[in-house]
Amino acid sequence: MGGTARAVAGPIGDGARVPVLIIGTGYGGSVAALRLAQAGVHVHMIEMGQAWETPGSDGKIFANTRSPDVRSYWLRTRTKQPLSNFLGFPLDKNVPRYTGILDAEDFSGITVYQGRGVGGGSLVNGGMAVTPLRERFSAILPTVDANEMYSTYYPRANAGLGVNHIDPAWFDSTDCYQYARVGRKHAQRSGFPFVFVPNVYDFDYMKQEAAGTVPKSALNAEVLYGNNAGKKSLQKTYLAQAKATGRVTISPQHRVTSVAPAAGGGYTVAIEVIDTSGNVTSTKSVIADRVFFAAGSVGTSKLLVRLKATGALPNLNAEVGKGWGDNGNVMCGRANHMWDPTGTLQSSMPTGGIDNWDAGGAFAEVAPLPTGIETYASFYLSITKNPNRAQFTYNSGTGAVDLNWQTAWKQPSINAAKTIFDKINSKEGTIYRTDLFGVYKIWGDHLTYHPLGGAVLGKATDNHGRLHGHPGLYVIDGALIPGNTSVNPFVTITALAERNIERIIATDLR
Ligand SMILES: Cc1cc2nc3c(=O)[nH]c(=O)nc-3n(C[C@H](O)[C@H](O)[C@H](O)COP(=O)(O)OP(=O)(O)OC[C@H]3O[C@@H](n4cnc5c(N)ncnc54)[C@H](O)[C@@H]3O)c2cc1C
Repeated sequence: MGGTARAVAGPIGDGARVPVLIIGTGYGGSVAALRLAQAGVHVHMIEMGQAWETPGSDGKIFANTRSPDVRSYWLRTRTKQPLSNFLGFPLDKNVPRYTGILDAEDFSGITVYQGRGVGGGSLVNGGMAVTPLRERFSAILPTVDANEMYSTYYPRANAGLGVNHIDPAWFDSTDCYQYARVGRKHAQRSGFPFVFVPNVYDFDYMKQEAAGTVPKSALNAEVLYGNNAGKKSLQKTYLAQAKATGRVTISPQHRVTSVAPAAGGGYTVAIEVIDTSGNVTSTKSVIADRVFFAAGSVGTSKLLVRLKATGALPNLNAEVGKGWGDNGNVMCGRANHMWDPTGTLQSSMPTGGIDNWDAGGAFAEVAPLPTGIETYASFYLSITKNPNRAQFTYNSGTGAVDLNWQTAWKQPSINAAKTIFDKINSKEGTIYRTDLFGVYKIWGDHLTYHPLGGAVLGKATDNHGRLHGHPGLYVIDGALIPGNTSVNPFVTITALAERNIERIIATDLR
């Protein structure tokens, strides 16, 4: 450990011995890398997705949501768009198998959407950067001191992520948020509070997009498959700072397959190098003194459950794989009257929500439908108080890790969302859209954007993310959070990682 800063060159070498290896480059991994590097530690980050630094044949790195292409999906031969249908037509199409940016990972009862690449979920998400209300925090992370989170770690996370707020006067006048103003009007007419939601998309840049002075990104339907400008993804914030220390190496298209105690101390980490078709081109074995699991709730849980079951990490406890939730995600659309259009130009970055958490258990983000045509639809992603929790288990027959979530477990989420939208529909004289998720299907209850849990803080780990049973192994991502954050999760994941890494550096690495 320690030593002066030096530029550490490209991918990790086979046979290397390193002080710290981090699996994954999303929020948890990026926070850990930056703070460890600032403390003088050399860090190697392993990322199975691409670096996303090279433009495609259209001159752009990322595709937009109107024309998904080979870059858009992780190793699928057919797209799996969250909104599968529109006006009776299925939207999905065949694409070549490629290590694209958005993974629609299918389990038997749910499809879990996740970002793939350097920056993890920050590459594909809506940028909504929400700090939960303090009075709701004890239900989110019951073992964590709220005082220090709200005085130190949430502010630190907001600063590190570059969170900014929309100018309310501009919101009231710009064409690109007409859909959100319609959402606000309908919410308020039914007596629901509408709240502005901060974002990591640079709203000054968006204003310039609207003025036509810079290339369009949020105003060109870019979000799910990456943003070419405007969004402060982790590559521009935590990871840029981490790389600038000269102590952080990132190895893209490298997938960790095993972690096991090494004979002379530390852990042997097995890695597959993959090409853009997903084929394994070589394997590497390295030894790390400490390993941080930051592969996301699903990635970390799958690794830990398999490593425990196969005997690679036999001392992990029985909590590993448990406590997984979907943050209560459920989607729906409403059909507006012809005199209430939502606009042909819609910013892909949501900036407002309807807060009915205390009364009905739902916080609904007013989401865009940036199709480029007038849809007369209002579209919502609700985060709800869903008590169901699922478990990951190893299937020795297939070698896969399964998740026992059932589609019927979304019913509490639907009920919670209905506390808002049944009332709005009755007040406005409108109905639910039935054409967005299939044929005559109202609820998008087959998916989540917000996987959380599987290695819960204070259960599978101690109260700072140290895995029980194997000293030197840590979890530092969304797997720590027990299933729900009452709002969009990445600010909480970042703040918790800031809290935990500070303690780990102070006590384990000195
Ligand atoms: C479409 C979409 C929209 C969203 N919108 C919002 C929003 O507006 N606001 C919000 O707060 N949240 C949003 N989210 C959720 C948010 O992005 C996630 O909660 C967050 O990214 C999770 O952070 P993490 O650090 O746990 O892991 P991730 O960000 O998922 O990072 C994990 C990384 O590990 C890599 N990895 C996995 N397994 C391995 C392995 N074996 N070897 C090497 N690398 C591996 C993955 O490729 C990934 O890059 C959205 C998510 C999606 C998919």
